[in-house]
Amino acid sequence: MPPVEQKPVPRPGILDIAAYVGGRAKAEPGQRVIKLSSNESGIGPSPKAVDAFKASAADMHRYPEGTAQDLRQAIAERFDVPADRIVCGAGSDELIHLLTTSYAAPGDEVLYSEHGFLVYPISAHAAGATPVKAPERDLTTDVDALLAAVTPATRILYLANPNNPTGTYLPAADVARLHAGLPPHVLLVLDAAYAEFVDAADYEAGFRLVEAAENVVMLRTFSKLYGLAALRLGWAYCPAGVADVLNRVRGPFNVSTAAQAAGIASLKDVDFLDHARRHNATWRAWLTGRLAQLGLEVTPSVANFLLVRFPDEAGRTAAEADAFLTARGILLRRVAAYGLPKHLRISIGTGEECELAAAAIADFLRGDHG
Ligand SMILES: *Cc1c(COP(=O)(O)O)cnc(C)c1O
Repeated sequence: MPPVEQKPVPRPGILDIAAYVGGRAKAEPGQRVIKLSSNESGIGPSPKAVDAFKASAADMHRYPEGTAQDLRQAIAERFDVPADRIVCGAGSDELIHLLTTSYAAPGDEVLYSEHGFLVYPISAHAAGATPVKAPERDLTTDVDALLAAVTPATRILYLANPNNPTGTYLPAADVARLHAGLPPHVLLVLDAAYAEFVDAADYEAGFRLVEAAENVVMLRTFSKLYGLAALRLGWAYCPAGVADVLNRVRGPFNVSTAAQAAGIASLKDVDFLDHARRHNATWRAWLTGRLAQLGLEVTPSVANFLLVRFPDEAGRTAAEADAFLTARGILLRRVAAYGLPKHLRISIGTGEECELAAAAIADFLRGDHG
């Protein structure tokens, strides 16, 4: 006889999850909020995406087109890939959960990098699998450490490239070496949420590896450069076998009509996307330089945020800086949960937001707490 429980009990692993805590959005009532805590777009969405979103309201009573066909077609044309290898999701977070629960079971291991995205271990626990971290070197993914951590139980390796919250990346040659060292049954998931922000000539988001192998998936999102975080929209570029699996397990209407419409419109607004990319590059360089002038250690970032190391001395720590800035309505992200208690992460906002945040950090470091 199985034990009789007094209430419903979730599967093993679920209660090991430390629920994801998003970047804060609220300050004191009536205070202006400068939200630089979730790597959202500093300049928001394309006006054409907003128009498409509004136009979709008339069909609110209809179910979405369940295969996101027009959106997949638009992605296929934009990136020159076959539409039937693309699966859309309610954010790439949904796709991460679907991949993990499809390919990892209790007893299996899900591998990721020391300061990697927290949704990876959360999804592993949700599947009853075991999350395993490999150490990083200089706040950068270490290919050899990841390969050394592969065991017969490894089923998935998640690589955020560029990584959040460090902002560092692996060149294409290193990703290829990582892939070459993996057993063929291990699924390599290249999470390229910040790919659009990278200018480095030796970077690749992952198209070629997906096309060359049966065990590589690339994830992309509309939440960052495209500025559609509220609509929840992401996509996976997959080998045929993985696309088939995702299409079996996903909800039949997992991407809303509004998200599909706004996604198509923003993909087509190439000028706006270029403008958003240039805005980020300009203010990322400015803020990196300004914070370095203030004596802070800034990890060189290729993404739309900076990881900033604060001093150890009392009165100047990351936790104290966060409290000081929060009191002024400036919301950064503490990253202690990522194993980085001495750092804060700051997203690139508007130019004015970057200037106000830098000025407030200067006040903090000066001990000007008035
Ligand atoms: C922001 C982010 C995502 C995107 O998540 P969505 O669910 O698409 O909003 C994915 N991976 C990483 C590493 C991120 O930082």
